[in-house]
This record gives sequence, structure tokens and C-alpha cells, in this order.
Amino acid sequence: MLVIGSHVSFKNDSQLVGSVEEALSYGANAFMFYTGAPQNTIRGTINDSITYNALSLMKENNIDLNHVICHAPYIVNLANDQDLEKYVFAQDFLRKEIDRCQTLGVKYIVLHPGSATKLDRDYAINNIVKALNNILLPEDNIVILLETMAGKGTELGINIEELKYIIDNVKLQDKIGVCLDTCHLNDSGIDISNFNEYLNTFDKNIGINKIGCVHVNDSKNPFNSHKDRHENIGFGTIGFDNLINVIYNPLLERVPKILETPYVNKDFPPYKQEIEMIKNKTFNPNLYEDILNYYQK
Ligand code: FE
Ligand code: FE
Ligand code: ZN
Repeated sequence: MLVIGSHVSFKNDSQLVGSVEEALSYGANAFMFYTGAPQNTIRGTINDSITYNALSLMKENNIDLNHVICHAPYIVNLANDQDLEKYVFAQDFLRKEIDRCQTLGVKYIVLHPGSATKLDRDYAINNIVKALNNILLPEDNIVILLETMAGKGTELGINIEELKYIIDNVKLQDKIGVCLDTCHLNDSGIDISNFNEYLNTFDKNIGINKIGCVHVNDSKNPFNSHKDRHENIGFGTIGFDNLINVIYNPLLERVPKILETPYVNKDFPPYKQEIEMIKNKTFNPNLYEDILNYYQK
């Protein structure tokens, strides 16, 4: 079964019900949300009766709670301890994010591992390990999925070696995994047309069972550009067929595929039409026109 969805919003008033409704409007059976704005750490409280309604709506529509992903805000940087207050704040925030997810019943949290900034990379990576070991508790029923990064600036987690180092040093092994992002892989120097070779290397070093999510994005930039700008499916440098091969890879069948592609003209979500294209396995060269027609009618 194809497990496919996109990033959706999570608003303070409609919370998870709003997210589920948005996912359903795209024909998705999976989705990913931020518990608030991705660029800040202001978060409301979870309303249990809304969550209850969301869970029954999901049940009616065959959305498995295991296919729902939370994305931690990208300003959380567990790698930098230069400002101790900020380092502690980042850990506190992630701890609270874990608690919010457990209240919602959501098991998977995608996390950008962090940025070294002015610190030595090895030292900064050890800060991530330390922070994760501080935050995670044996009774937690969540998995932190470290996202593969493009290598923009001083980002960490930009290759298998760095991810493996973090994972190997996290004590609670069942609470750590990986989220592959096809745009980031491409920009970090992985040839997506040779995805099987990458999966093979990943399996030998980390283990395919550690992959808990795949972000499916095309890229605006060439292979190995260390940029990180997402493009709509089939309109970038990775290309439609290579992305279809990732999405339908039998080794990743159980794993939710989440689109984080750009809105058309900044206003119109592309996900319904992109998901259709993916289900049909046929590239739609008129994607933009179809999206504008659909939303402007
Ligand atoms: Fe991300
Ligand atoms: Fe991503
Ligand atoms: Zn990205």
C-alpha cells in the first residue's frame, strides 16, 4: 500500500482535526505537521476533545496514527552549547514537543540534527548526542527521526557517517531513527538515480529499519550544490522517474512519504495534484495550470 501525504497546517483552534481535514482534501493517507509556526517556539496547549475527534476522523478515513509525523521547529539547535541558556532552552523545547506528541498519540518527530555554527563539527555532533541522551526517557513512546541534511552552511547530519555517529551514541536505541529527504540527499551529493546503491550503503551502516519517514521533494539545484531549495515533483533536477522509484521502492513500502514541495504562486498547495500524479505514476506537465484552475474556480 502506498503511504503518501504532505506537510499540512496545525492551527491553534482546529488543531489535529484541521490537519486531518487538510490531508483528506489532498487524497492523502499520511501527513506531517508542526505543532505551531516552524520558525518559532510559541506553542498552545493540546485540546483533548479535538484530539479525540481527530482520531475518530482518521479511523473513519483509514489514516493510521503511525503515518502521522510531527516536525520539530527548525530553530531548535541541539549542536550549539556556546550559549548555555539557548542549549538548555532547545532541550527543554524538544522535551515539551515530545510530551505534546505523546498527548496527541503521535509517535514520530522529525528533527534537523543541528548546525555546528562556529564550533568544531565533531564537538558539535557530540552536543547533539548529549542533548538527545538528556531528553529521551525510557518510558517515551516516540521516535526522533534525524533528517538527512543538504549541507547548507554548517549543517550537521549531512551524510551517513554523521547520522550513524549520532544514532550509535544515543542510549535509547528504539527512540532514534532517520528521515530521508530526497532534495537534501541530492543537494548533499547523493545521486537519486542510483537510490538503491544509497539504500544499500545506508542498510549496511545504519539499517533500513531505522528509516521512519521519507520527505519527497524535487530540487531547484544541481546534485552536490549544498543548497536546499525544494521544487515541485518532476520540475526539478531530480526528476519525476527518480522520485517515483524512491516512492515505490519495495524496501520502503511501510514508510510514510511526505511532500514538502512549494506552493504555487505562494498561495496554492500543490499536494492534491502532486499526489494524483504520484498515484498515476505519470508526470503531469500541466501541474501548475491544473492547480490554479482547481483553486481559482
Ligand atoms: Fe525538515
Ligand atoms: Fe524535509
Ligand atoms: Zn529542505
